[in-house]
Amino acid sequence: MALALASGAVEVVDLTHTLDPDFPVIILPPEFGQCARFRMEEVSAYDHRGPGWKWHNISMSEHTGTHFDAPVHWISGRDVANGAVDEIPVDRFVGPVCVIDCSAGAAEDEDYELTVPVIEAWEAEHGRIPADAWVFMRTDWSRRSGAAYLNMREDGAHSPGPTPEAVRFLVEQRDIRGFGTETVGTDAGQGMHYNPPYPAHYILHGNGRYGLQCLAHLDRLPATGALLMAAPLKIRNGTGSPLRVLALVPGEAG
Ligand code: MN
Repeated sequence: MALALASGAVEVVDLTHTLDPDFPVIILPPEFGQCARFRMEEVSAYDHRGPGWKWHNISMSEHTGTHFDAPVHWISGRDVANGAVDEIPVDRFVGPVCVIDCSAGAAEDEDYELTVPVIEAWEAEHGRIPADAWVFMRTDWSRRSGAAYLNMREDGAHSPGPTPEAVRFLVEQRDIRGFGTETVGTDAGQGMHYNPPYPAHYILHGNGRYGLQCLAHLDRLPATGALLMAAPLKIRNGTGSPLRVLALVPGEAG
């Protein structure tokens, strides 16, 4: 693997948004607690507070920016074994990823749904999704910024996501490890209207599977063949964590 990296046969792709205070976080109805944006305060910058060094104190939610969702994030996964980020075996953080390109559909319909037929059409072209793989829903939503990212209206957010049937198919028929999106959550913006509400969260986490959201640059991944590295911070009893998500992909010289 080291030789393949050195020769350019394998390249490292960054699938992570930059953490800064302007990056949007999910907004829940006002009666609920809210997710904190990223904050950074200067401790010293080569000055009287620390003449030879610069550093910051930072704060944020476990679910700010590009981040990992652990099973205990959702009530359906509250009793899952090893369901918090500090308990998950580290081999779960490295594995294959399949990328379903929904970018054309999402460009036409901001409430675009990933359905079972869409998955089956992808498999007809690329082969069956192997067991224990990550599945990413590419929408190119990560190119949006500001208000267009959450896309809030009077009736809530509008952004693409999977149907309950699609999530159940991926978990029960394909035994996926986790599901990732470019939007602020693994569920559609209108995901509260499905049965169950927020089916990606409910079904994935209730079955001990993981989520990744606010991913970027999924257009740089092949449909199959990339190796994903996504290791959350080791927060005791943590329900999720911001993280750097990297993929190893076949390079130009490959
Ligand atoms: Mn989350």
